[in-house]
Amino acid sequence: MKRRPRLAVWKFASCDGCQLSLLDCEDELLALAGAVEIAQFLEATRARARGPYDLSLVEGSITTPQDAERIREVRRVSKALVTIGACATAGGIQALRNFKDVKAFTSIVYARPDYIETLATSTAIADHVKVDFELRGCPIDKRQLLEVITAYLHGRAPAVRTHSVCIECKRRGIVCVMVARGVPCLGPVTQTGCGALCPSCDRGCYGCFGPMEAPNTTSLARRMSELGASADGLVRVFRTFNANAPAFRKESEAHE
Ligand code: SF4
Ligand code: SF4
Repeated sequence: MKRRPRLAVWKFASCDGCQLSLLDCEDELLALAGAVEIAQFLEATRARARGPYDLSLVEGSITTPQDAERIREVRRVSKALVTIGACATAGGIQALRNFKDVKAFTSIVYARPDYIETLATSTAIADHVKVDFELRGCPIDKRQLLEVITAYLHGRAPAVRTHSVCIECKRRGIVCVMVARGVPCLGPVTQTGCGALCPSCDRGCYGCFGPMEAPNTTSLARRMSELGASADGLVRVFRTFNANAPAFRKESEAHE
């Protein structure tokens, strides 16, 4: 009998939301479980099969010396490695530490900060090992996740769009909140994937899918400034889930 491809799901520093997106594929989960052997997925089962694995999905960022070692081992046993979510692709919200002294945080958060062994930064998986594909979002979109898994199972490139959220607004006929009401919106520089969820609810995008391909953050920051955003406000706008993504980090640093 033909062997089913082996899928492994790994967690690093994260909230588990992206792994939950996989479990959230209610209608497709049985078909998926039939097409692949789920060899490692602690969020769903304690059963674990040893590697090597055909496809590894990696959630979370690298924040400890142990993480940095473990991801090299995951890479070693994985034929293809796909990172999922803002933590794994850009360091996540925990990358806010990258702009400060991490000891200042541990001394406030933990009763015994001397027990905490952590790195000074939170970084994307691609900063440590070769990554075959990065799937954006906080959390990721389950349709995009299924597309990526299907693509790897069939040996083709995933069809995931890299244009801005604005294009999605135009496609859906959503009135632009920035043009119509002067509401700050990160949509012009944010990668699509959510179907323009926030503008469809009459609010601005706050960039949870991270920078689109070649984003013009300088131009958007200028427009936000004309709409009344302070320099401090602009720093905060670009420092959320994807604060350490190079394009957003550079723009936030320009307003410090
Ligand atoms: S609402 Fe935001 S994402 Fe939509 S078109 Fe306007 S600026 Fe772009
Ligand atoms: S509109 Fe922006 S903030 Fe809202 S879900 Fe989409 S990418 Fe995330």
